[in-house]
Amino acid sequence: MANENKLQNIIGHCKEYGFIFQSSEIYDGLGAVYDYGQYGAELKRNIREYWWRSMTQMHDNIVGIDAAIFMHQMVWKASGHVDNFSDPMIDNKDSKKRYRVDHLIEGFAETLEKEKGDALLQQMDALLAANDFAGLKQLIDDNKMKCAISGTCNWTDVRQFNLMFSTEMGSVADDANVVYLRPETAQGIFVNFLNVQKSGRMKIPFGIAQTGKAFRNEIVARGFIFRMREFEQMEMQFFVRPGTQKEWYEKWKETRMKWHLSLGISPDHYRFHDHVKLAHYADAACDIEYDFPMGFKEVEGIHSRTDFDLKQHQQFSGKKLTYFDTEINQHYIPYVIETSIGLDRAVMMILSEAYEEQDLSTAEKQESRVVLKLPAMLAPFKLAVLPLLKKDGLPEIARELMDQCRPHFRCFYEEKDTIGKRYRRMDAIGTPFCVTIDHQTKEDGTVTIRYRDEMTQERIPLSSVKDMVIEKTKMF
Ligand code: ATP
Repeated sequence: MANENKLQNIIGHCKEYGFIFQSSEIYDGLGAVYDYGQYGAELKRNIREYWWRSMTQMHDNIVGIDAAIFMHQMVWKASGHVDNFSDPMIDNKDSKKRYRVDHLIEGFAETLEKEKGDALLQQMDALLAANDFAGLKQLIDDNKMKCAISGTCNWTDVRQFNLMFSTEMGSVADDANVVYLRPETAQGIFVNFLNVQKSGRMKIPFGIAQTGKAFRNEIVARGFIFRMREFEQMEMQFFVRPGTQKEWYEKWKETRMKWHLSLGISPDHYRFHDHVKLAHYADAACDIEYDFPMGFKEVEGIHSRTDFDLKQHQQFSGKKLTYFDTEINQHYIPYVIETSIGLDRAVMMILSEAYEEQDLSTAEKQESRVVLKLPAMLAPFKLAVLPLLKKDGLPEIARELMDQCRPHFRCFYEEKDTIGKRYRRMDAIGTPFCVTIDHQTKEDGTVTIRYRDEMTQERIPLSSVKDMVIEKTKMF
């Protein structure tokens, strides 16, 4: 299947089977905003839960918090988001590549003779200082500056661009009441660093984990749920003694890759991308990239953020954010290793990996199926309970099994249509196990269990179904 087709087919499948819908679809949708339907919401919750438990339950020195989306506006001043996300940008309509206007013009100036280049840069500086966006666009057009990718001069207007959404808090609209919808969850962790450390008597090294919504007014927002304007992050900040950050950074790279592989995803579909050009606050950084239908792209970032964030918050708030290390008898601002994964990107990764179109045709009959080979622990429904007929006491036995299993995992009951059709529907939503209750069940207390991936079937005791499914779908 061509990759472009695969992406379109996954999008279609997600809509048809209640995983993901375009937001406000009946009003023609809202750009790069999506809603999770009945199965998608379950899948997403399971991924979140697996991450949460991997981080907190499985590490004695990591705790989870749930900070508010709204934070004091000074948080975003201190973090650099207010100032750093407000450059004038321009998009090339053909390649969809977004440029910082100054980068584009500077790049072009370098191709000119020195005198001409300098004159152009002077013009640019004057226009930037005056916030004259129309003038900047004119400059780009007049000089016929081309996009390096498409080679065309087909540009959008220049826009001042801050990725943060803002609104006002309270009834008076003035600058002092501006609040931002957080563009990352990390800052909620930094500003609570001392609260958690003190109230939990945490000793370095320790981590704080959090999942939650983040908002970015992305200009180029496409690729389905890969790049959204409202999305969810799962982040963990790990606080370490200065000087040990390199070692912890390597450990977290390894730990996070192991987590990814524990999803059953092929190692060939992952790679590390080490950052060569580092952000001003980082002393090492890499992405874990997954081979999406659009190619290898970032799903998670691992960053050694030094003491930048805590130092900034200490400076802006005037509150001490140091830690006293009793082992070495020293006060210091801890260094931080961050692991940051997008939940929606993780959903897309899991769906891309799981989605398969299979041709099952034989000489006698044409047949195919779409199956989501989801890891059993993440599947929206773990078990489908299917009475062969709607009579002869079979639904009653099936209902009894449902009652037994319901407190332990989600199960799906269906008595309509042929068994074959019911299996196909369960394949399409990724249910790993189906049991069929038939007349033999009444005689010997066995059921047919059918395995989604291999499509094999066997008879097992009805009484063993619940424990078998618990065992095969557990996270740890
Ligand atoms: P990108 O380079 O793709 O814009 P980023 O480097 O800005 O991502 P981070 O700020 O490191 O991303 O955020 C951490 C994680 O959050 C990313 O690895 C990604 O999984 C997720 N993420 C970031 N932006 C978005 C978005 N607009 N939609 C969905 N997920 C996102």
